[in-house]
Amino acid sequence: MHRREILPTILSALSNIIRLEILRILYSRGPLSFTGLMIELGMDPRMNTGKFGYHLKTLMKAGLVDLDKSSGCYRLTELGRSVLKLLKKIEDSVKMERDKLLVRTSLPSIEVFNRHRIVECLVKEANMPKRLAEEVAREVEARVRKMNIKYLTTALIRDIVNMILLERGLEEYRHALARLGMPVYDVSQIVEGHSSEGLSEDPREVTGRAVLEQYTLTRLVPRHVADAHISGLIHLVKAYEWALHPESIHHDVRVFLEERTPSSLSKALLTIFDVIATYSRLVALSQVVEHFNTFIAPYIGKLTYEELKNRIREFIELLNAGTYFHNAVISLDVGIPKPIGEEKCPEGTYGDYEEEALRVVDAFVEVFMEGDDEKKPYLRPLLTVKIYKDSLKGHARNTLLKLAKLASARGTPLFINLTGGGYSNMSYSDHGLRVYSTIREEWDEILMTGSIGTVALNMPRIAFESRRDEEVLLDKLDAAISLCLKALEARYKTLERRLKVGKLPEYSFEVRGNAYLRMHSSTLNISLIGLPEAVKLITGYYPHENRDARGLIAKLLREANKFVCEEAGFERRVNIAEVRVEDENFRFAEMDSRYGDMPRESLRGDPRTPYYTTDLGSLAIPFRDLVRITSEAQKLTPGGHVLNINMAEPSPSAEKLLSTIERLLREKVNFFTFTRDLTYCRICRRIEGGLRAKCSYCSFSGSKIIHYGRLTTRYETISSWDYGKRIEYMERFRHII
Ligand SMILES: [Zn+2]
Repeated sequence: MHRREILPTILSALSNIIRLEILRILYSRGPLSFTGLMIELGMDPRMNTGKFGYHLKTLMKAGLVDLDKSSGCYRLTELGRSVLKLLKKIEDSVKMERDKLLVRTSLPSIEVFNRHRIVECLVKEANMPKRLAEEVAREVEARVRKMNIKYLTTALIRDIVNMILLERGLEEYRHALARLGMPVYDVSQIVEGHSSEGLSEDPREVTGRAVLEQYTLTRLVPRHVADAHISGLIHLVKAYEWALHPESIHHDVRVFLEERTPSSLSKALLTIFDVIATYSRLVALSQVVEHFNTFIAPYIGKLTYEELKNRIREFIELLNAGTYFHNAVISLDVGIPKPIGEEKCPEGTYGDYEEEALRVVDAFVEVFMEGDDEKKPYLRPLLTVKIYKDSLKGHARNTLLKLAKLASARGTPLFINLTGGGYSNMSYSDHGLRVYSTIREEWDEILMTGSIGTVALNMPRIAFESRRDEEVLLDKLDAAISLCLKALEARYKTLERRLKVGKLPEYSFEVRGNAYLRMHSSTLNISLIGLPEAVKLITGYYPHENRDARGLIAKLLREANKFVCEEAGFERRVNIAEVRVEDENFRFAEMDSRYGDMPRESLRGDPRTPYYTTDLGSLAIPFRDLVRITSEAQKLTPGGHVLNINMAEPSPSAEKLLSTIERLLREKVNFFTFTRDLTYCRICRRIEGGLRAKCSYCSFSGSKIIHYGRLTTRYETISSWDYGKRIEYMERFRHII
């Protein structure tokens, strides 16, 4: 036989069941005669000799079997023996392969099921003792094999592990192993754009947020706190951000200006823009450029007013480009108070540049009055204006009058009242979250601070569960605040840890001996949502209907403040607030509408999209009473609040509005704004007051018309709101001023 033919001959000899059986019999039984072999094979020696002889000859030809002439028996050759051993090996490994379980992992790859991987994971992720982990893993393997699963994935193995942990009462370990993710159905809804979750939003962000929120709820906060969030008793504001960033930062842009030493106003503005761009992704809610006009005043130099205004317009346009700088707040000073004026600046002191600083405010007012290239109102940046005692006289008063004109026409700035005796700084970020200095004259204590986190509290739920009993109500309020404190502490510690290990370099770099973000003077907030509905549930009246109802609001706020003071325990500034960030007033009301036998009349709005009240300004309270109640309530909400006064048409003159502003200042209302409904016509490029169905100049309607309004601090296009928010806006009370 040719060498080349050896293998084909052997393989073809093997490719028959009878011949393989002959080899097996000879292997196990030893040499056998022709007839003996036939009998072993179950063949009839009288009939099948021809067929059998052919098979035997084939095996002999291939050299696998030979005839022992002395005994007349057939036997395996050495070659036959080793071929047979090889065949057994192949057979074994095929069998093994068939019994193996293959697992699809998230990598993605496919691996062979390995019990030890489960042990490793239980020990590492759930901190389980090894012996117990091995026991659980063995049980998992036994179950998996029994179930005969075709498509085994790591997620499924995790489910089986979890099931076994539950059955064995090992729930704590199960909690640590929880897998974060979303049902396939939910993700397809988002990818295909059917989700209610912001239509225009990036699916990557929506899905990422969902997973991060689950992370906060399973890993960051204690379980009873997570349960309270899920049940709608409390709401962790922007829960998906809790492991990542603070809510807000109040910049001291001098830090960046001193570092770059810009040679012109344009370069100074670009430096500030850079800061805003950098931090735009590093805050959960907003960033505030404090004392903007004061700090850039020294860079104005010999620019004419027109040149200055153009620079300001360019800056505002930059902040309106794209969607990244939504969260910027520009804070303007109407005049420079003494302690700031005495600070050194690049040349001289800031006090030397008061005229320039006021001109910056004038430029902002004019640019906002004129609007963008199409004369549409600028919706950002959010402008806050600080009014000091001296703002009410001299040049500053002229600027204030211009601001009143802007407020009357566009509703734009938010006013911060710093006219109180002495000088103590405070400021507000978006949504009305507040920072403040605790020591008089320490005006810069608010800089480089911010709000670390906010938890909203569902007040009507607490009121409902108190069954009209005020004592019970106060106890329940304390209990709920305890939950909020636990949550805030977890967030504070998480952020502190991240800063310490250098995960947030933009907050931890050193400025005058401390990290840029002054954690110790930053705030944590507990926001009470739906106070008016809560008192309605207890007293039967809304605050605008009855004096006792108003009294109860003050009582609840006082109790909340007292409890926080006593219980905050850890050295932090935890404050009671009345702010709304994520429309949690809708989430709470919607959940309550399905909760027990909550009375329908305590929910406002459309039955399909109920809401709770988040500011007293929306209620039909006579203006005089509103001012008084707000002044009282704002004292009891150090964490933040805004009085948003919706103006009825026609809007007042600048002089009239200024006298209203002065009245609010005198009555110690801290933070307020005037909202005017606006209608813009794309054809005429004109803005009119009120929400008009058609333009009164060209009579066009429909898509030619844009309506603007404001529910909290920022103006938005009303068409971007869902049905519930539109109803809420229409139901807001409008004051004649
Ligand atoms: Zn028109």
